[in-house]
Amino acid sequence: MNPIPRGNRDLIRSINRSILLNVIKTEGEVSRVALAHMTGLSPATVTTITGQLIQEGLVFEKATGDSTGGRPPIMLALNPRGGFVIGIKLMEGKAVGAITDLNASILAKDAIILPDKQVNTSVETLVKLVNRLVQQGGIKKKQLMGVGIGLAGVVDFAQGIVKQNPIFGWKNVNLCELLEARMRVPVYIDNDVNTLTLGEKWLEPGKPEDNFIVITLGRGIGMGIVINGQIYRGKGGGAGELGHIMVDPNGPKCDCGRQGCLETLLSDRALVAEARQVVSADVSDLDDLIARMKAGDQNAALIFTKAGQLLGHQIANLVNLFDPKLIIISGEGIRMGDVFFSAVRSTFNEGVMPGLAEDTEIRVNSWGDDIWALGAASLVIAEIFISPIQKEGRAIPNR
Ligand SMILES: [Zn+2]
Repeated sequence: MNPIPRGNRDLIRSINRSILLNVIKTEGEVSRVALAHMTGLSPATVTTITGQLIQEGLVFEKATGDSTGGRPPIMLALNPRGGFVIGIKLMEGKAVGAITDLNASILAKDAIILPDKQVNTSVETLVKLVNRLVQQGGIKKKQLMGVGIGLAGVVDFAQGIVKQNPIFGWKNVNLCELLEARMRVPVYIDNDVNTLTLGEKWLEPGKPEDNFIVITLGRGIGMGIVINGQIYRGKGGGAGELGHIMVDPNGPKCDCGRQGCLETLLSDRALVAEARQVVSADVSDLDDLIARMKAGDQNAALIFTKAGQLLGHQIANLVNLFDPKLIIISGEGIRMGDVFFSAVRSTFNEGVMPGLAEDTEIRVNSWGDDIWALGAASLVIAEIFISPIQKEGRAIPNR
C-alpha cells in the first residue's frame, strides 16, 4: 500500500502514480513515450514513477512494440503477479473466499463454517480462512496486499465499521480494526452488493463504465450505484436499498418493519409464498416453481411475468433518475430466465422517458458462487489503483 501522503509533493506523486498505473492497466501495454503523451506528464516524471512501479513489481517491461523505424520502444505492462489479494463474502453460517492476483485470476478458493454469530468467533474464523487461502495460493504472507470483505447490511466503508448487519445482529462493529490487529494487512469492508458492483467496474476487461447500476435478485433485492466512476454509498453507507422502496402501502409486512417494500413482492421467498396460493400449496422453493413453469404451468409463468413487470417498472424509474449507460442484473434470482426477463424488458421500454432508453443496455450477468468473493477481492484491487484524491476516509496502517 501507499503510505499516507505527507505533503503536497507526496500527494502529487501518488496522484501521478495512480494515473500512470491506471493507464497501463487500461491499455494493456504502453510505451513510456505514449504514457507521457496520454497523461500530459513530463517524460522525466513518467520515467521516475514507472521505475518505482517496476521496482515494486507492479509493472514490468515487455517485448517491444511497433515502431516507425529506429529502435522499437520498450512496452510497459501491469504485472498481475505483482501482488495478491483475498476477497471474502461473509454470509449466514459460512464465509466463502478466494485468493487472486491483480487481474482477479483465482489462485485458490475455500469456504469455512462460522460456528456462531459472535464477533470474536467470526474474527478468528476469518483469520483462519485468510491463512488457509495464503497457503493454498502458494504465496508468502508479505505478498498479500489486502483483504476485502463483503457482507449484507449497512456498512461504513470509509470508517471500516459494520453499522448494522441483519444476519449476525451486529451493530457498530469495527470489523476492520479487529481484523487488522490480528492479520497485519489492510482490510476493507463494504456492503456485499457494493463489492459486487466494484467487481463489475474493476474486473471487466477494458475501460470501465463510469455510470452504471447493478441490481441483485435473490433472498433480498440489492442495488449498487456507480456515478462518474465512483460507488455512491450515501452519507453513511446506506444508499441503494432498492429492496425497500415502497411499491404497495397495503402490501405484505417486510423484515425492515414496514409494509409493501419491493422485496416483499419480488424476493425468492415472496414468489414462493405467492405460488403456494395460486399454483400449488406444495411448491417447495424457487427452483421448484421454475421447474413447474418450464413444465407448462400457466399460473407459474404468470408469477414470473408479473415479477418481471414489477422489476421493469423499477428499472425504468432508475433510468429516469440516473440515466446510466448500463444496468446489470445479477444474483441467484437470474435463474428465473426468459419469461421473467422479457417482461422486465418490455415494461422497462414502456416506462422509461422517451430519449433515455436508446443507449441504455440491460445486461443479465452469468452467475456463480465465485462472483461474491471476486467482488470482495476487487475492494482491495480498487484501492491499489484508485487516486488518493478519490480515497474515502480511513487511513490504512503501514506495513
Ligand atoms: Zn422493507
